[in-house]
Amino acid sequence: MATEKLSPGMQQYLEIKADYPDAFLLFRMGDFYELFYDDAVNAAQILELTLTSRNKNADNPIPMAGVPYHSVQQYIDNLVDLGHKVAIAEQMEDPKQAKGVVKREVVQVITPGTAVDALDADKENNYLTAVDFDGSVYGFSYIDLTTGEFYVTQLTEFADVVSEAASLQTKEILFGYEATEGQLSELTARLNVLVSHQKTIMDNMEEARLIPSILPLVEKNVSLKLLTYIKETQKRNLSHIQEVKVYEVTDFLKMDYATKKSLELTSNFKTGKKQGTLLWLLDETKTAMGTRMMKSWIDRPLIKKERIEERQKVVQVFLDNFFERVDLVESLKGVYDIERLSSRISFGKATAPDFLQLRNTLSQVPQIKSILEAIADPALDNIIQHLNDIPELRSLLEESIAEDAPRLLTEGGVIKDGYDEKLDEYRQTLREGTAWIAELEARERQNSGINGLRIDYNRKDGYYFHVTNSNLDQVPDYFFRKATLKNSERYGTEELAKIEGKMIEAREKSSIYEYDLFMAIRDRVEAYISQVQALAKTIAGLDCLQALAVVAETYQYVRPNLQVNGDTINIVDGRHAVVEKVLGRQEYVPNNINLSKDVEIQLITGPNMSGKSTYMRQLALTAIMAQLGSYVPAESATLPIFDAIFTRIGASDDLTSGQSTFMVEMMEANNALRLASKNSLILFDELGRGTATYDGMALAQGIIEYIHNNIHAKTLFATHYHELTELDDELNSLENVHVATLEQDGDVTFLHKIENGPADKSYGIHVAKIAGLPKELLARSQEILDKLENQAPSLQNKDGLEDLSQRNIEVAEVVKEESAQLDLFGDFGADSELVKKLSAIDVMNLTPMDAMNLIWELKKMI
Ligand code: ADP
Repeated sequence: MATEKLSPGMQQYLEIKADYPDAFLLFRMGDFYELFYDDAVNAAQILELTLTSRNKNADNPIPMAGVPYHSVQQYIDNLVDLGHKVAIAEQMEDPKQAKGVVKREVVQVITPGTAVDALDADKENNYLTAVDFDGSVYGFSYIDLTTGEFYVTQLTEFADVVSEAASLQTKEILFGYEATEGQLSELTARLNVLVSHQKTIMDNMEEARLIPSILPLVEKNVSLKLLTYIKETQKRNLSHIQEVKVYEVTDFLKMDYATKKSLELTSNFKTGKKQGTLLWLLDETKTAMGTRMMKSWIDRPLIKKERIEERQKVVQVFLDNFFERVDLVESLKGVYDIERLSSRISFGKATAPDFLQLRNTLSQVPQIKSILEAIADPALDNIIQHLNDIPELRSLLEESIAEDAPRLLTEGGVIKDGYDEKLDEYRQTLREGTAWIAELEARERQNSGINGLRIDYNRKDGYYFHVTNSNLDQVPDYFFRKATLKNSERYGTEELAKIEGKMIEAREKSSIYEYDLFMAIRDRVEAYISQVQALAKTIAGLDCLQALAVVAETYQYVRPNLQVNGDTINIVDGRHAVVEKVLGRQEYVPNNINLSKDVEIQLITGPNMSGKSTYMRQLALTAIMAQLGSYVPAESATLPIFDAIFTRIGASDDLTSGQSTFMVEMMEANNALRLASKNSLILFDELGRGTATYDGMALAQGIIEYIHNNIHAKTLFATHYHELTELDDELNSLENVHVATLEQDGDVTFLHKIENGPADKSYGIHVAKIAGLPKELLARSQEILDKLENQAPSLQNKDGLEDLSQRNIEVAEVVKEESAQLDLFGDFGADSELVKKLSAIDVMNLTPMDAMNLIWELKKMI
């Protein structure tokens, strides 16, 4: 495209666009933001805008689409939500005063990870993450621009990078190094994320002070690249960003993303919403900051006993002091989201109502403090110490910002009377002038006899008498005409003109002056940002702890007894916290869970829908609740402090990655086997289901033996392979449990009660009975089952896997023999093709794949 032929405006557009090839460029033109070329075509489709064109009659009209400036935010949000970047080019001078093309510049680039102005900015954090690599380890850093939280750590494997990014539900990740194709696809298979790049570091960046110089180089680099990207896209003040906090993944209970997802910690597996999750249960917080913190507590339960107990103690205090807690909750209701507010202050976006919210929040602090002090428990000392109401800031805001101050800064009424002498004088002039004008209005009304005579003001005409056309004949002769409208005339008088000058000056000067005063206040407030942020964190933590107390009280939880390096799980009458909330306490059947040094693995059998999975999840949730400081649903609970939880639960098909269920199953199992220690918790539900029966059963047994002999992690293993229950003879620390069923008058009821020993194998036939299958058939099935049970050799053999396959073959033969007796083939005679083919099969040498193909062929023959 030859730029010479284009108008100067379009040339300017193209020059700017060249710097932002990967963003939608919104180009301000008067009251609209315009998009051109491909941006226009694509945005028109995404945002349902009308696509028009510039130079319609030219040979190559330029596609164009626009959005009105006042509703631009909603269009930006839409694009960013869908993972796009948006660059905003503003007019940098008043078009009326511009010579030639109005000067324009990109003032901000909004990306999924840097969006802070979203209209529906809710109770979620929005993390932007960055990863760098120094040849051996990964630097990993993330930031929430809406709150200023900034973190960095080191990770040894790329899988950990993916897992961390997924846990944070980051929407954008920056690569500071050349990632491999494999890494990029591993990441995008797991996460719906925008990949950006930032290889350079800005020189002499003022924000470099947020990164301590003692950090390892890879951590320093990754956080500097993250800051550089933010500087280059945001182009605005970043004073709310906090000093980077170094964290270790090993400070927290390790759970990978699949585990968090399948345990439904913060998002419902089916709906992706909060409803039905642990967060939904625990989030009795009263502030948005509390909600965000509760989510991060759930995402990162603790592993240091002292820290857990610190939280438990406060929960106990709030349980013991009901009335004070109720007062506290009332006070918390008056607390606004001052954490998010601090970013608005830093970005220069804070309005007067924001400051009123900050002031109101600060004024709650002494009350909150005195409630806690009245309880007088040392467990609260730390919180009390950190509850700082920042008195200087508070009095500044109390003295300066008017009650009911408007959002708009240009209309006046923002600053309180008495804060500034000069402003007070302007206001006095205006007040006196207004009174004087009212008096003049009344006088002239009487003189002229025009009832509707009134004095109005507007920018163009100043102060004037308003006279409708019907009264024009009554206008006194000393009135002079200022303006003529369709139905009325505007007049001045000498008297009015005298006061008018003063009034207009006071009006205009005061609004400019007031604006300047507000800006000065904003600058002063900015100096307190880090104190406001610290207060925000303290209040959020306090809110979470009172919430845990409320939940513990409502559902009658107990304080868990946690043991470092413990090997005992002893839960009496434990419940699944979320299922109990949904079903109600009465409906939920509590279960004991006992594991120890001697019983490390429980093998759980029982029919589908009997409660195996709920029992396993119950343990995981109880452990997570315990380690985040919550009380737990049980009569009593002793638990070790786990270092990690691994799960393979349900058929959580990883649809986005296109991997088969079985492959995902094996990857997750592998993760557990590689990374679990004896202090970990492993939950495997129906492992091996994704492949052929014998294959799956063999793998399941292999995995159980491996955990038993090499890892010693506490493990719950639910299976439908009844054959595995015989493993308890061979594996000392494995115990069989089953879910009890009750059969009465031909009805089977699931009791949801876990009992010792393996499940009764014939429950399948019971279920078939309920479903109404013919009696004869059921009797025959029972006969086959009995025979299988009697003939099948036991699994008691050290070499379990081989034994299992031998067993499979024998079982297959029994089935063959039985089948011959059944007249299954109906019309097919002994010499039919089908029977010939069947007889020719060498069952011993069939692979699962051969078997599948064979069945396919046989099916085609009937
Ligand atoms: P399984 O894993 O054996 O197929 P689930 O654990 O999914 O079975 O449980 C099936 C249903 O039974 C659940 O939806 C739940 O409502 C109910 N259930 C499970 N355990 C209990 C229990 N202890 N008390 C009451 N209802 C339960």
